Amino acid sequence: MKVNTQGQILDSQDQPLPGLYAAGEMVGGLYYVKYAGGVGLTAGSVLGRISGAHAAALANRATA
Ligand SMILES: Cc1cc2nc3c(=O)[nH]c(=O)nc-3n(C[C@H](O)[C@H](O)[C@H](O)COP(=O)(O)OP(=O)(O)OC[C@H]3O[C@@H](n4cnc5c(N)ncnc54)[C@H](O)[C@@H]3O)c2cc1C
Repeated sequence: MKVNTQGQILDSQDQPLPGLYAAGEMVGGLYYVKYAGGVGLTAGSVLGRISGAHAAALANRATA
């Protein structure tokens, strides 16, 4: 999946699909040929946290 810096999945026009996020192995374009040890778990946890915070902020705004 192609995502933006908030972890939102992008459509073919690079527009975020509302409420749809990806992190970890689902995200493409992070590695080229090789990667350093620990990158897999780090990428998933960092983007997962960012995505979760973004989704929670949107949910809070919707209910406010
Ligand atoms: C042998 C091996 C060694 C590795 N060593 C390291 C290392 O030392 N350091 C490091 O940083 N990374 C390492 N990695 C990479 C790291 O494990 C992955 O990058 C990381 O686990 C990816 O996390 P994820 O949550 O994206 O996916 P996953 O950990 O694959 O989690 C996906 C989950 O979704 C579940 N699932 C799938 N389909 C469905 C469905 N339809 N409904 C519900 N659940 C579903 C699966 O059962 C699974 O539990 C290693 C990978 C392998 C294979």
